[in-house]
Amino acid sequence: MFESLSDRLGGVFDRLTKQGALSEDDVRTAMREVRVALLEADVSLPVARDFVKRVTAKATGAAVTKSITPGQQVIKIVHDELKAVLAGEEGIPPLKIDNPPAPILMVGLQGGGKTTTTAKLAKRLKERDGKRVLMASLDVNRPAAMEQLAILGTQIGVDTLPIVAGQKPVDIAKRAKTQAGLGGYDVYLLDTAGRLQIDQVLMDEVAQVHAAVQPRETLLVVDGLTGQVAVEVAEEFDAKVGVTGVVLTRMDGDGRGGAALSMRAVTGKPIRFVGTGEKMDALESFEPDRIAGRILG
Ligand code: GDP
Repeated sequence: MFESLSDRLGGVFDRLTKQGALSEDDVRTAMREVRVALLEADVSLPVARDFVKRVTAKATGAAVTKSITPGQQVIKIVHDELKAVLAGEEGIPPLKIDNPPAPILMVGLQGGGKTTTTAKLAKRLKERDGKRVLMASLDVNRPAAMEQLAILGTQIGVDTLPIVAGQKPVDIAKRAKTQAGLGGYDVYLLDTAGRLQIDQVLMDEVAQVHAAVQPRETLLVVDGLTGQVAVEVAEEFDAKVGVTGVVLTRMDGDGRGGAALSMRAVTGKPIRFVGTGEKMDALESFEPDRIAGRILG
């Protein structure tokens, strides 16, 4: 069973300084544990290294408060720093969904949870924000994916753009835009086609749709359990179309949340939501505090 970072640090510090300030040795020993724990949580090596550097600077010489042990003190510093990195300097801005109809482009690889997340987000916008939402699937290669979105739409009471066989993704996107305007919708969500891996055809298609509708938000949906692969996917999509936010799915699994830290640190993109299950209400706002706790164990 995985030993949590809190347990590890507690153990290490039980044998070390009991009072005063944290010595350099104490900090060095603790940081070795932090680094291993981050790597075990699937944080990439450069991110873990950089993180440890930041925490070391904060922890060295920090006075140990009487009421807590040095181990707890370091855990607090690590927790606060995790939270700061996950939230980013400017924090997590609200979704840009003013000026109706606001287009949101959903991108990502096949199987990452894009269609499910599109419907979950539509439901959330409708119920929490009182928005009129239209969804459209652009996945012309997989009629089943288009059907899936229509079925989910019926389930959650959100309209989907009628399917017209033979249309190209960019034409469906334009039709969605027109329909959203005429129909008085506040937001329209475009569920793009995924592929098993990044390929040029996929990227060109997404870029074409992006240029046609000028989305207010381009949300990348990635499987949070794929760790560093998710970060690479994010960088590729960002280079091509400019990602404005990330949704990490499958965070109900036993992954330890490290993908979130690497994602934020490497791409600088805000993580907006986490998917926590297959049901339509299993989409939560990203809370740095909670994920920091999860990484710490
Ligand atoms: P797409 O190919 O990217 O559109 O992926 P789908 O939306 O079809 O999702 C693929 C599978 O992952 C489906 O069985 C979903 O129910 C499941 N899924 C999506 N998001 C989550 C999540 O947050 N947690 C879990 N456990 N399953 C999810």
